[in-house]
Amino acid sequence: MNLLFANDRRGAYPPSLYAEQNPPLPPFPPLRGEARADVVVVGAGYTGLSAALHLARAGRRVIVLEAQRVGFGASGRNGGQMGSGQRLDVADLERLAGKPAARRLWDMAEEAKALTRAHAAEAGVAVHDGIAHAARSAAEVAHAHENAARLARDYGYDRITPLDGPALAALIGTGVYAGGDLDRGAGHLDPLALALGLARLARDAGAVIHEGAHVHAIRHARRATETTIVQTGTGRVLCDHVILAANGYLGHLDLGVAARVMPINNYVVATEPLGPRADALMAENVAVHDTRFVVNYWRLSDDRRLVFGGGETLGYRFPRDIAAKVRGPLEQVYPQLRGVRITHAWGGTLAITMSRLPLFARPARNCLSASGFSGHGVALSNLAGRLMAAAVMGQSEGFDTMAALPARQFPGGAGLRWPLLVAGMGWYSLRDRLGV
Ligand SMILES: Cc1cc2nc3c(=O)[nH]c(=O)nc-3n(C[C@H](O)[C@H](O)[C@H](O)COP(=O)(O)OP(=O)(O)OC[C@H]3O[C@@H](n4cnc5c(N)ncnc54)[C@H](O)[C@@H]3O)c2cc1C
Repeated sequence: MNLLFANDRRGAYPPSLYAEQNPPLPPFPPLRGEARADVVVVGAGYTGLSAALHLARAGRRVIVLEAQRVGFGASGRNGGQMGSGQRLDVADLERLAGKPAARRLWDMAEEAKALTRAHAAEAGVAVHDGIAHAARSAAEVAHAHENAARLARDYGYDRITPLDGPALAALIGTGVYAGGDLDRGAGHLDPLALALGLARLARDAGAVIHEGAHVHAIRHARRATETTIVQTGTGRVLCDHVILAANGYLGHLDLGVAARVMPINNYVVATEPLGPRADALMAENVAVHDTRFVVNYWRLSDDRRLVFGGGETLGYRFPRDIAAKVRGPLEQVYPQLRGVRITHAWGGTLAITMSRLPLFARPARNCLSASGFSGHGVALSNLAGRLMAAAVMGQSEGFDTMAALPARQFPGGAGLRWPLLVAGMGWYSLRDRLGV
């Protein structure tokens, strides 16, 4: 099944709150015939658009090929939470890669937030400070508080306030969690507004963007005298470098990446505007996510709707009734919203790795790839794009740091990873339901 076309209308954004509230950019023309570029970028999400922006600003001829519309993928549909750090906490990173590498990864993640804030500011997108983490058990609360103390002590990061159960309940309007923390250095934003803003900035810097340009084959250069050829249904581009920024929608365009990066669907709803009821939910305009394996995450939109993500499915087709799927976890967290009107419901495809750290790779000569941000990509994918742009221009230190991280294949590789994930997800979602 090709996830690029399986769940959505071709050439259209999903029926999300974001798509309703952000006027689309005028369509970019499809690729016709043959073109020449220094760099071809496959995919116009944050990763690809950030790469294109930084390459174009450095004077490179860049062509972005997007199968659907800019921001069509995870970048235009996500929960808008710009979290700190990597997807693993620093204690796990220290165990996995050693203290110096953990420090470097933390610093890069801080750089990622700063870059994303800079992109958002240039694009005129507001970033609201603060993400609360809601833990379900005393052990998880202790773990969160330990993590905050470690970050303050060893990493000089003092933006996290530990919260006990009553303090968290007062902040987020629900008593179903045992406690957690509030990270004021993290933030949240309108994700599609950021993707469209990046596309505008890249275009204005000189990047050529094509929509409706599905790349179905790449013939990589094997030696210095050869040129890479990127093929769509209606044209092809001859280029020196390719950047793969297709994330969960990559399919089998590169089998080595596909064996290590697995697509997975996730679902979001928006309620009707809640007016004064919103004040009783959130004492401050922060975003929240919890510690379930199938994570619940939410925030208020600027027009005071609850935008809530959660609910798993074990299949690549979106469920027929996404709203019903997400209503369950929403009402568990906020029983006071039982029966609230849900006005928008949509799904999206993200990508995970075995380690939950992104996969940075060089799949072929003059070809770079970054994907598998594992639900923590809003900031890191912006950075990934800039790191790949720098690597194309000969500055590959940051890219190489990320590419050195362990990157195991999913058991079964590209062919069998999915049935094994279904088994694993079934197990973990059962654990969530049992509260263990
Ligand atoms: C529902 C949901 C909620 C999420 N919530 C959060 C969150 O709150 N915080 C967070 O940090 N992360 C979150 N994420 C993850 C985050 O959105 C991603 O990590 C990030 O957007 C990845 O950006 P990207 O550019 O790499 O991929 P994408 O935005 O998916 O872009 C890939 C693009 O490549 C295009 N493409 C693919 N194949 C081809 C091809 N062959 N030819 C041409 N074009 C192609 C696709 O159409 C797509 O536009 C969430 C993801 C989802 C789906």
